[in-house]
Amino acid sequence: MKTAARRERLVSALAGRDLEAMLVTDLTNIRYLTGYVGSNAIAFISADLAVLFTDSRYAVSAREQATGIEVVIGRRDLLTDVSEALAALSGAPKVAVESEHLTIARHRRIADALDGVRLAPEAGLVEDLRVLKDEQEIAAIARAAEVADRALADVLAPGIAGRPERDVAWDLEGAIRAHGAEGASFDIIVAGGPRGARPHAVPGAEPVPADTLVVIDLGAVVDGYCSDMTRTVATGELPTALARAWRVCHDAQAEAVAATRPGLRGDELDRIARDLIAAEGFGEAFGHGLGHGVGMDIHERPGVRQEGREVLKSGMVITVEPGIYLEGVGGVRVEDLLVVRDDGPEVLSRHEKQQPSA
Ligand code: ZN
Ligand code: ZN
Repeated sequence: MKTAARRERLVSALAGRDLEAMLVTDLTNIRYLTGYVGSNAIAFISADLAVLFTDSRYAVSAREQATGIEVVIGRRDLLTDVSEALAALSGAPKVAVESEHLTIARHRRIADALDGVRLAPEAGLVEDLRVLKDEQEIAAIARAAEVADRALADVLAPGIAGRPERDVAWDLEGAIRAHGAEGASFDIIVAGGPRGARPHAVPGAEPVPADTLVVIDLGAVVDGYCSDMTRTVATGELPTALARAWRVCHDAQAEAVAATRPGLRGDELDRIARDLIAAEGFGEAFGHGLGHGVGMDIHERPGVRQEGREVLKSGMVITVEPGIYLEGVGGVRVEDLLVVRDDGPEVLSRHEKQQPSA
């Protein structure tokens, strides 16, 4: 979808809340609405005015990226320029600002700089649009998923047992870039043996042990869109407890993926996997939520967890990633990225899930 259509949808959403304009300060939301990629910008969007403010470092790129919108090259601070440009607005318009992205100090500064407007702190206005992906966005996410698939296949092929975890993580990052992505979508996790029992383990100098499970969680960024996938691989014969945890986790994940459909709430999908894991006696070992939305941010709406009340809709992109973590022994997590569709989930993560020998 062209950014102009997104801005139109935003203006309609604003009108629905009796607001005339929005001052967008979150850089990801600015990219979504204007195409601008950079570190310093503010966007003002109303029914008859759309202006992107940035500084001279981005003068050339901003005009290339933000088509169909006026680009103002201001001073580094931007607020003076915004204030000057908006001084011409009449009738003290009511302007939405992003309450979830503004510090108190910055809100105060904006209020001081724009004394002719009334600021209305609003949460989630642009995110309401971002949660439903168009086919162009889904295509970018699918490419990011494919890059992660290939990177993982490359790095696993020669075997990883005995190699330092952080070397494996670095190779994955290199492979992600070699396959054409802009980079990794988060710090890659490689956690073997007992370290795999920490869901967000940091890869260290320790070698990947033999005869255990290794949790590998990675993602790529393509055209500003993220992917996210976890595989848990065996490095040999497994202790019975780990082999059983692997099987239970994968069965629960497959059930939850198959159950994914529009109309289900995030907490309802979470419960499908959680109940299966609990029935096998691993309930206490699955602490985190089942999944999350993915898009321009690696974690975004909808929440797919016990508190997730958002209803799934066709066009949302989510992860389904249960885990079982046995302290002192090891862990297993399996995560697929999928598109919620009317006719069933479209799974974007393709890397195989090998059943480990026990
Ligand atoms: Zn992940
Ligand atoms: Zn995830």
